[in-house]
Formats: sequence, structure tokens, C-alpha cells
Amino acid sequence: MVDTLLETLKKTYIEFNFRAGKRFLFRFPKTIYFDPNDPEFDSLILHELGHAILKHNNYTTDIERLKMERAAWDEAEKIADSLGVKINKNLVEDDLDSYRNWLHQRSKCKKCGLTRYQTPDGKYHCPNCER
Ligand SMILES: [Zn+2]
Ligand SMILES: [Zn+2]
Repeated sequence: MVDTLLETLKKTYIEFNFRAGKRFLFRFPKTIYFDPNDPEFDSLILHELGHAILKHNNYTTDIERLKMERAAWDEAEKIADSLGVKINKNLVEDDLDSYRNWLHQRSKCKKCGLTRYQTPDGKYHCPNCER
């Protein structure tokens, strides 16, 4: 099954390079790395393809990162529909949850525990500790 979807993707999305690697990763602008042995191969490769199609490169704020992850899953869903492949919804939720947790941890002030805000330059500021 893994080969079938991979072959289809290689033929359909000839503008991208698909390379076996240790984990799933999109490297801007054209390379998609995948782990051929991952049980969630279908969902994960379509997610990375989503990043590729949307030309995701880097982000400055963490919210932006979360939005990119969601957008990549939405795109993956569209591609999956067109190919008759199923995306594992639990996997999507777990993945987005892990980004939400990450965001929460990153935004927490280490001195007072309050949620900080991030300015467009990527820096975090605590409304309590910074005046
Ligand atoms: Zn992603
Ligand atoms: Zn603080």
C-alpha cells in the first residue's frame, strides 16, 4: 500500500522530490522526507505534501506555526479526498494538540506563570514582569 500511494504522489506531484528519511519533514522549497515504515504513512506524507503545496517556509510567531500546521492538514484532507485515501482524524487532533501545548508552554512566563504575548518580531513579553 505504501508504495502505491507513494508512486501516485511521485507521478502526480512531479515538482516535488520525495525522499526516504528518518521522519516526515518538508524542506522548502521542494523536498518531502518520509519514513516508509511509519504506520501512519498515508496521513503523514499528505500532511507534508500540504506544507509543500502551500509553500510553507518559515514562521516568526508561534501562532503562525499553529496556523500553518492546521492549513497543511486541511490541504492533506483535500488531496486525500481526491485520491480516495483516508486521513486519520485522531492523528490530526493529536498533532494539533501537541502544537497547542507547545504554544501554551512557550507563552508561559517563567517568572510569574502568566501567559505572555508575542510581538511580530517573534519575541515574547510578559504584561506583568515587563513594564
Ligand atoms: Zn506539519
Ligand atoms: Zn511574568
